[in-house]
Amino acid sequence: MTAEPLRIHAAPWVVPVCGPIIANGGVAFRNGMIVAVDLLPRLQQRYPLASVVNHPAAALTPALVNSHVHLELSHLAILAATPFAGSFTDWITRLLQLRDTLGAAGGPAEQAALRVAGQLYASGVSVLADIGNTLIGSNLADTFPGTLFPFKEYLGLAERTLAKNFTRLQSEPDHALCSGHAPYSTHARLLQQLKSRAATLGHVFPIHTAEPVAENEMIRHGRGEMVEFVKARGFWDDSFQPLTNGSGGSIRYLHQLGLLDARTLCIHAIHVDREEIRILAGQGAKVCLCPGSNQYLGTGKAPVAQYLEHGILPALGTDSLASNPELSIWREMQLLAAAHIEVDPALVFAMATRGGAEALGVGDRLGTLEPGKEADLLRVPVPMHKTTPAQVYNHLVTTGSALAAQRLQD
Ligand SMILES: [Zn+2]
Repeated sequence: MTAEPLRIHAAPWVVPVCGPIIANGGVAFRNGMIVAVDLLPRLQQRYPLASVVNHPAAALTPALVNSHVHLELSHLAILAATPFAGSFTDWITRLLQLRDTLGAAGGPAEQAALRVAGQLYASGVSVLADIGNTLIGSNLADTFPGTLFPFKEYLGLAERTLAKNFTRLQSEPDHALCSGHAPYSTHARLLQQLKSRAATLGHVFPIHTAEPVAENEMIRHGRGEMVEFVKARGFWDDSFQPLTNGSGGSIRYLHQLGLLDARTLCIHAIHVDREEIRILAGQGAKVCLCPGSNQYLGTGKAPVAQYLEHGILPALGTDSLASNPELSIWREMQLLAAAHIEVDPALVFAMATRGGAEALGVGDRLGTLEPGKEADLLRVPVPMHKTTPAQVYNHLVTTGSALAAQRLQD
């Protein structure tokens, strides 16, 4: 490859995420890769022949990561267009009914998914982890300008569904990414098989975890709203084994099944006690928070400060338009910051970038601005009266989708 001339993007604020904000900074890059991140005068001294592109009144940041979305549910947006006050299983019932009416795949579903993926990319999201039951995600992955991980979702709680799921799983090509839906909907042996396959292939294994409060009642005692829901759908066969000591919840359950390691991504992870957070930290397991969806469904607030205290930097996800009226990682930051004023805005921004990249196994090439990583930069307008790094972080995480970030093409 012929070496391109070195160029520098310069701005009043450079937000590397892996280190402090640099005032009057620059990002030097060549062939799409970052060469150096430093004060602009130092970069110009070191690279006197480099051309400089100035971005006044702006911050340069890494592109964002959306660690949890279901693009194939985008055509069900009417579901989350009005406030909801029912139970979690009421919402699932409504979702399934609407999907039966409108269809799970086909033109409208594909077009809505394509539109949402495009909107997310335009808002500054370069990496998407999509979970679906149709081919919509994997088809979009071929044309998405960033990186779209299309996970195929497996579920089935009854023992009678195991053989069919195992056969399907065995026929998956090695490149196919597979996820388990949730502890309340997916048989323990299927979860173990899915995780074992993902571990062998070096894939990330996402699973909805501790989302509705009723999930823990099922996990502890084998009863409650989730069990009644599964019974009503005809999938309860008494093969589910609750935790033996009656304490803890889904995290302890997944740990007992041997499913937690650095490539397991626990999505939502709201109803988690301190001991379970210690387990997650000890296993190096990843967490993805979805504050917009949790707020809409009224499922609760995740223990964000405790995660951070234990050295876990969560990722952020939007979930789908069926449980969140707006899919924007900027808005997720805004909601999280508003609900957790005790959390440093710098860490909230790190969740949307480095946290997501690490959770999805792309932290070696994205998520921060540092030499050797891809020069995938956003230019985010920052008013001139913001004069400290703390004000810049606060602006980034509290202004939400109105920030109008632009991706810098190299
Ligand atoms: Zn989800």
